[in-house]
Amino acid sequence: MKYTANKKDAAKKPMKLENDSYEKIIENLHDGLYLVDRDRVITYWNKGAEKISGFAASEVVGRSCSDNILTHLDDDFNNLCIAGCPLAASMVAGKLRDAEVYMHHKNGHRIPVSVRVSTLADKDGNIIGGIELFTDISNHETNKLRIKELEKLALLDNLTQLANRRYIESEINNRLEEKKRFNLSFGVLFIDIDHFKAFNDTYGHDLGDKVLQFTANNFTANSRPFDMYGRWGGEEFIGVIRNINGQGLVTIGNKVRNLVEKSYINHDGKILQVTVSVGATLVGQGDDIESLIKRADELLYKSKSAGRNCVTTDCE
Ligand code: GH3
Ligand code: MG
Ligand code: MG
Repeated sequence: MKYTANKKDAAKKPMKLENDSYEKIIENLHDGLYLVDRDRVITYWNKGAEKISGFAASEVVGRSCSDNILTHLDDDFNNLCIAGCPLAASMVAGKLRDAEVYMHHKNGHRIPVSVRVSTLADKDGNIIGGIELFTDISNHETNKLRIKELEKLALLDNLTQLANRRYIESEINNRLEEKKRFNLSFGVLFIDIDHFKAFNDTYGHDLGDKVLQFTANNFTANSRPFDMYGRWGGEEFIGVIRNINGQGLVTIGNKVRNLVEKSYINHDGKILQVTVSVGATLVGQGDDIESLIKRADELLYKSKSAGRNCVTTDCE
């Protein structure tokens, strides 16, 4: 009997895609994806990578990834491009590797991303480069909603897109009420940019504004969803950190401090950076908003006296 393919058989055939279909899928992935050659020069950069990092493909293709572009940081805030690049390690070992790192955003701040790296081999199995897939693990969508909500209530600081001073005050008062009624603890971080007047004097007010923005973006991209950061005024910020003990508060203060220290903008080929000093205190019995902020401010002042770029706390 002669065999004729019917519809059912056709459905069983493996689906075959044209090469440009694969390219389209990769290009429009929600995640970032890029390829490097053996010298770690970027050869491909998809739309997801543009969206997450702020860098367009035209700005990065043909450049080395250690060339002040992504400069991944590990959990201890060490620059992985200098030692420990997961992509380089994967290329040497020829293996798949996963890591969580802080990637540099074009605007200056650090974005937490989960990366998966692997090698690219030619037909004969020779390693010709590497591939990195990365996912933004900051609460991006929640933050967009938060900004909309604050805007509606006129409680948004327009320059930094953080909560304004009025909102910080109401947030602290709510937390104080919670402390009184349910004995829920919280802490306050008072954060102030170091030598910011000198930065403005040297580089101008507009670049100063960019620094305020990337400092603020570090807070929102790297905070827990239930913590709140706001702009107290000028170059001063307050973080209201919930459900925390003294040690945890200092860890978060140092995380913020480290992320700001490792943030930068590239201005005419020059890397511009700042540091912050922090005062960290937990709410105590009998605290009101004035006593709490005054104590955090005094601790911040001690950080300034101690040489800046540090966290001072009165927590045990
Ligand atoms: P310290 O390390 O002791 O904190 O020194 P500092 O220079 O940061 O402190 P000081 O209070 O002397 O200066 C704060 C500067 O912050 C002065 C002002 O020009 C700058 N500043 C405040 N608000 C803004 C702003 O919205 N944009 C810009 N670009 N600068 C601002
Ligand atoms: Mg100040
Ligand atoms: Mg200052």
